[in-house]
Amino acid sequence: MGTQETYPIDVGAIRADFPILDRMVGGDIETPGEGADDTEPLVYLDNAATSHTPKPVVDSIVDYYHGYNSNVHRGIHHLSQEASVAYEKAHDRVAEFIGAAGREEVVFTKNTTEAMNLVAYAWGLSELGPGDTVVLTEMEHHASLVTWQQIAKRTGADIEFVRVDDEGRLDLDHAAELIDDSTAMVSVVHVSNTLGTITPVAELAEMAHDHGAYIFVDGAQSAPTRPVDVQAIDADFFAFSGHKMLGPTGIGVLYGKEHILEGMDPYLYGGEMIRRVTFEDSTWEDLPWKFEAGTPVIAQGIALHAAIDYLDDIGMRNVQAHEDLLAEYAYDQLSGFDDVEIYGPPGDERGGLVAFNLGGVHAHDLSSILNDKGVAIRAGDHCTQPLHDKLGVPASTRASFYIYNTTEEIDALVEAVDDARQLFA
Ligand code: PLP
Repeated sequence: MGTQETYPIDVGAIRADFPILDRMVGGDIETPGEGADDTEPLVYLDNAATSHTPKPVVDSIVDYYHGYNSNVHRGIHHLSQEASVAYEKAHDRVAEFIGAAGREEVVFTKNTTEAMNLVAYAWGLSELGPGDTVVLTEMEHHASLVTWQQIAKRTGADIEFVRVDDEGRLDLDHAAELIDDSTAMVSVVHVSNTLGTITPVAELAEMAHDHGAYIFVDGAQSAPTRPVDVQAIDADFFAFSGHKMLGPTGIGVLYGKEHILEGMDPYLYGGEMIRRVTFEDSTWEDLPWKFEAGTPVIAQGIALHAAIDYLDDIGMRNVQAHEDLLAEYAYDQLSGFDDVEIYGPPGDERGGLVAFNLGGVHAHDLSSILNDKGVAIRAGDHCTQPLHDKLGVPASTRASFYIYNTTEEIDALVEAVDDARQLFA
């Protein structure tokens, strides 16, 4: 393992597009960027938090600012038209990427969290009430859990949680028990950012629809790592973030079925989202602009287009195969330590991440030792505090992989964990 030929994708060629992967770390952090006192080669295994950005995506941002920076939909001058066309094409590209019917179903937001809030406020506040339930899972990210909690408080709706079993699999029998005629919304994470569990969203969509409920799929960890077809899974809503899939920060996507979005009131009000305003009242623009108030995320949207092109050139099936390979490899290597506890299902049933704890060592201490060796992983609750409560730990250490990671980098992680074991023994 570890040679380029064994990977489903050309990792060497891909890495050449990411200059950041060549940098050293470990020195003074007051000034960002590599310094003379940085001594450790970076091993970046924090991709579930945010991924890196390849040259073509950075170039697309530079091209925009150097070549046709302008506000969209407001000017008839040349630059504004060019920016508008590029911004609209970015919506078309996202629609194609996730199998949406068209740009009407693709709303650009700031991130997944904002996409969730948009639906929770614009749909939830008016549609939910006492007697309604919102069904979540025990492994929801706070972006979903906290948002629905607040909307439930305001509307009098109840929240119920589908159990996750001891192996980190979703208990579908429990889901079938909970989803009934009182259910108005089923909101589930597609790939858990803590357990790596892959949720059978198509089955849950069927359960939800059988009872007249909608399903919101949190695709923050799935859209970057596997082919997604929102129509095949029959999601009513689907959300993801550009920064986890080679894009810049500040861009997220809300997919919604056109007829549902049509029926929803706007979430934010102001310029760009209106058709006609009088002193008395206002009417709304067509989809998706009705949900994109104010100057939108123009550069970020254009860069997301470039990120999707980059991923599609590799092929999402190949991206998934690479993720699977690395997840299984890391799971197997870390399972070799009897004092390492891994959370979630076996290596061949998970997305490209592994969260674990080293017996008796706080995740932050372990993370700090790994950092001293240049290994960047996440330590904390990964925005899933109730799930960590259930696991009986305050925090965990999470390694997460992407297209540019190698098995050698996982070896470096495992070696550093072994060093830490001996240090704390
Ligand atoms: N949902 C999941 C499963 C995530 O992993 C994340 C980010 O870590 C989010 C939602 C929130 O994404 P963002 O912070 O980009 O809004």
